[in-house]
Amino acid sequence: MKYVHLLVLTLFSGLSLLAQEDSKKVLSDLDARAPQYGKIAHEIWNLAEMGYQEEQSATLLQNTLSAEGFRIEKGVAGIPTAFIAEFGSGTPVIAILGEYDALPGLSQEAVPMQKSAGKAAGHACGHHLFGTASTAAAISVKNWMQQNKIPGTIRFYGCPAEEGGSGKVYMVREGLFNDVDVALHWHPGASNAASAGAALANKSAKFRFYGVSAHAAGAPDKGRSSLDGVEAMNMMVNMMREHIPQEARIHYVITDGGKAPNVVPNFAEVYYYARHYSRDVVIEIFDRIVKAAEGAALGTGTTMDYEMIGGTHELLPNLTLQKVMYDNLSRVGGITYTAEEKAFGEKIAKSLGMNSLDEATARNIQPYETTARASGSTDVGDVSFAVPTVGLRTATWVPGTPAHSWQAVAAGGTSIGSKGMMVAAKALTLTAMDLYKDPELVKKAKQEFVERRGTDFKYIPLLGDREPALNYRN
Ligand SMILES: [Zn+2]
Repeated sequence: MKYVHLLVLTLFSGLSLLAQEDSKKVLSDLDARAPQYGKIAHEIWNLAEMGYQEEQSATLLQNTLSAEGFRIEKGVAGIPTAFIAEFGSGTPVIAILGEYDALPGLSQEAVPMQKSAGKAAGHACGHHLFGTASTAAAISVKNWMQQNKIPGTIRFYGCPAEEGGSGKVYMVREGLFNDVDVALHWHPGASNAASAGAALANKSAKFRFYGVSAHAAGAPDKGRSSLDGVEAMNMMVNMMREHIPQEARIHYVITDGGKAPNVVPNFAEVYYYARHYSRDVVIEIFDRIVKAAEGAALGTGTTMDYEMIGGTHELLPNLTLQKVMYDNLSRVGGITYTAEEKAFGEKIAKSLGMNSLDEATARNIQPYETTARASGSTDVGDVSFAVPTVGLRTATWVPGTPAHSWQAVAAGGTSIGSKGMMVAAKALTLTAMDLYKDPELVKKAKQEFVERRGTDFKYIPLLGDREPALNYRN
């Protein structure tokens, strides 16, 4: 009995040693390719293409993947810049999500002071790193599968227009995740963490008011102001804030308020978001916003219609997968700054009102937590309701940097961004390898997924049946 035990133990430690060698090689391969991926990320950072306009960024990632033997399906779900790259066959099918859209109005050079690069948009959410690291991970998983004859399928999902365009929702609605076992994702950030994620469900729409133009001084009685419609709506919604759950968020921008004060505007538009951690609450709040718009039109003698723009589910956590991701991130570790990066980081930290650069946060991994507070929204939410999904964050920005800031664009354009991105690529790769090696893990993740989602769950996209809003950034 003792001998058997010993034999099993020896065998087991032999195997785990082999597995360690295995992943060591994968990690050193990724290190060797880091400069190449850094270049790709920087190119996408430079392109700074906005949602559904990411033609060149998507093509760059497609070319990188197809050069590695991936089969590419372009223009999926009726979106020209959405694609799937696939390698291998059979199960399990592991998906790695990638994004590549930039944000309007946040152009910035890779310098530690606010300085526009003179472009229409900037990568203030680090999606150039997101798409590139996920591509890197898909390729390194593929290489490992090839070298070790691992059965199964690895897929990269090229997901456009995350920022307000809900690109993944159309891909989920189209059933593109139906045969996927597990989906992996990550997001750029100001620290390294693989705790349970959370996101706010979200509905957004453009409300358009139509009035009658007239000379604002000569014949105001003949006019009906569409801007009055917008303002009356905003006023009602702002009063409504007192009577909604306090965790809810409502924001708007007036995207068209007329052209000249001496012309009663016959057209005005306001773009709204409603968010909460429960999609049911979001649906209810959104319906009340529509009522406010209807009331505003009635009271101002204008007419109104609205176009749904986006809608995403909250994020469904999967702790079975999350712990695996956390262990892998811990194994990879954070990033250390060079002297040059330190100098850059110090200046960014000062610009954020901090006393000094918090290097430790970039270097360390945040403690594992099983509950999370949502602050933003993501269309990964809809994926997480389709298949077991897990993600992480890495320090691609100087600690303390908020997303959607010039500081995020700046650091994302430097080696700080590329280094953080490679941490993500490594943790994603190791986690995918664990899933291929351990069918029990996939099974457990699926069980948890079904339990959390509920057996009677039916997927209803929050943006309804509309076609992809391909021109929402025009
Ligand atoms: Zn983002």
